[in-house]
Amino acid sequence: MILWTRLYQLYASPVASHSCAAVILLGGGLVRIHHSPFTIHRKMSKYDHIREEAFEANLQLPKLGLVLFTFGNASAVDRDLGLFAIKPSGVPYEKLSPKKMVIVDYDANAVDGKLRPSSDTKTHALLYKHWERIGGIAHTHSTYATAWAQSQRDIPIFGTTHADHIAYDVPCAACMDDEMIKGDYEHQTGFQIINCLKERKLSYEEVEMILVANHAPFTWGDTAAKAVYNSAVLENIAQMAFLTEQINCCSPRMKDSLIRKHFERKHGPDSYYGQENKSD
Ligand SMILES: [Zn+2]
Repeated sequence: MILWTRLYQLYASPVASHSCAAVILLGGGLVRIHHSPFTIHRKMSKYDHIREEAFEANLQLPKLGLVLFTFGNASAVDRDLGLFAIKPSGVPYEKLSPKKMVIVDYDANAVDGKLRPSSDTKTHALLYKHWERIGGIAHTHSTYATAWAQSQRDIPIFGTTHADHIAYDVPCAACMDDEMIKGDYEHQTGFQIINCLKERKLSYEEVEMILVANHAPFTWGDTAAKAVYNSAVLENIAQMAFLTEQINCCSPRMKDSLIRKHFERKHGPDSYYGQENKSD
């Protein structure tokens, strides 16, 4: 009887997936196994893929040394659903799981999930709403990038590491005025980011990173993983730029011909960086 009960638990478990047999529990506790064409699957949700993507992206943030404790967050969007998955607020990274990711719409309303979404959700929502071709966003308080943000300075383009990823100085969006701070702060942070790129005539597809003055960096990309990658690149660029100014406070900005050369060999129409068949 114990064996049959165990078998029933195994086959009827919501996490089991079997294609060859089904188990029927009969009156009096009898269990019979029938071969069956039916498949018992784990209950799938239409949000699983973005929950998984957001979870993996969030896990990378502490692994890459970009966040401490509960700082920072990453999200992944599904454009067909018009929804994104984001880290829950105040939950340590080691306690995260895909199912804890909160599903949110572009107006920052939580539509699925048991926990409250990140306090930066409104910033993510506004960026997804305005920039239709981004697939993921990351926000960290990584040390060097945040130090530049606190200094309210753009990160000058000093070298080819920088130019391989972005052909401009990393912009630092201005500090918000008092009305914006007192109002819907996280929403206004999103506007500050969008307006900064607009004023400087920069495309969000060419510039996938920004500093917000006195706060920290935000990055994005076509996937959540790319957004996290950009956060790590930005931290590296920020550290190198800091050291460059320490060695020579008058270090010149890199010249335009070299900037274009490096950016375009990686991203331009005639790019030749990497392998032709990336699946190999
Ligand atoms: Zn922050």
